[in-house]
Amino acid sequence: MYAIEVNGLSKNFKVKIKEKGFKGSLKSIIKPEYKTIRAVDNISFAVEEGEILAFIGPNGAGKSTTIKMLTGILYPQSGGVSVLGIDPTKKRKQLAYNIGTVFGQKEQLWTHLTPYDNFKFFGAIYDLSAKEVEFRIDELRTTFELDEFINIPVRNLSLGQRIRCEIVASLIHKPKVLFLDEPTIGLDPVVKENVRKLIKQMNKELNTTIFLTSHDIGDIEKLCKRIIIVNQGQIVLDDSMENIKYHYLNKKIVEIKLKEEVEWPVEEGITIIKSKGCNAKLEVDTTVKKISDAIKWIDADNIEDITISNVPLEKIITEIYKNVEMRT
Ligand code: ATP
Repeated sequence: MYAIEVNGLSKNFKVKIKEKGFKGSLKSIIKPEYKTIRAVDNISFAVEEGEILAFIGPNGAGKSTTIKMLTGILYPQSGGVSVLGIDPTKKRKQLAYNIGTVFGQKEQLWTHLTPYDNFKFFGAIYDLSAKEVEFRIDELRTTFELDEFINIPVRNLSLGQRIRCEIVASLIHKPKVLFLDEPTIGLDPVVKENVRKLIKQMNKELNTTIFLTSHDIGDIEKLCKRIIIVNQGQIVLDDSMENIKYHYLNKKIVEIKLKEEVEWPVEEGITIIKSKGCNAKLEVDTTVKKISDAIKWIDADNIEDITISNVPLEKIITEIYKNVEMRT
């Protein structure tokens, strides 16, 4: 059985169109006009138990709407959803006992309570006994290093401390599937790295299935083996990280610093990303041209410095987004 199964899922929103100015406001009250937005458009996919999936796409692509349907917050227009074999529209409460959600931009914790009291509260919601909650808090406070601030009201915590507590609160009942919507947004690089480590550890130890939405390429690269890219409500790519990288690994970035300026030649397989004076950044398609051939015309004595690297994932994803936009 898959942890998540989605078949032909769609969701429309009907929104009021309002023309500008006072006249427009008046018209929208007296004779309102509507338009339909197809936020999610006939998507299908399945996620294996224990998989960490990145579900990404540009702003307004339909990611949050999909998560809301997977967690039973929104009803689908059409199509089927099954999470752990449960239909979220029919058995939302039963599903809630088995899933966890973290929305990086929204607080779930009660800010006037301490993390400890919040965890007790969440434990009670999930019908855990006092003993079970204590045991679970003890486990998680060590893993997530919460000791320093577990008894300080949430409103006085730093963002990084709060997000750690948000994740712990979502894990109190050992969910089998965890939905993470921008879990590292606004965190500094060190805390980001810690949060990623903890997510990975939890996935490994408990085989938790993770459905991740993030605009942070680091989250995707460090955590996920598979990526689904959505745009305008549709899936435009569903592939393994390995395949995506392999496709682009045939391209190398060559950064050259010369002693004396030269005229960069136009050759097949070489794209000049930028060039200024003695510096140039080239992209070499190694299926067309070998790196050594790409630079062999430069006099070795004229080379001050040279670095060869793979195309960064950030660029790969931006390129995929751009290609998708050009097609639509
Ligand atoms: P982001 O990365 O910006 O968070 P997203 O991929 O999560 O974007 P959604 O929030 O799912 O995108 O929105 C998809 C589309 O549906 C957008 O055009 C949005 O304006 C529209 N939409 C979302 N929620 C509603 C709503 N409650 N009422 C009307 N339109 C909505």
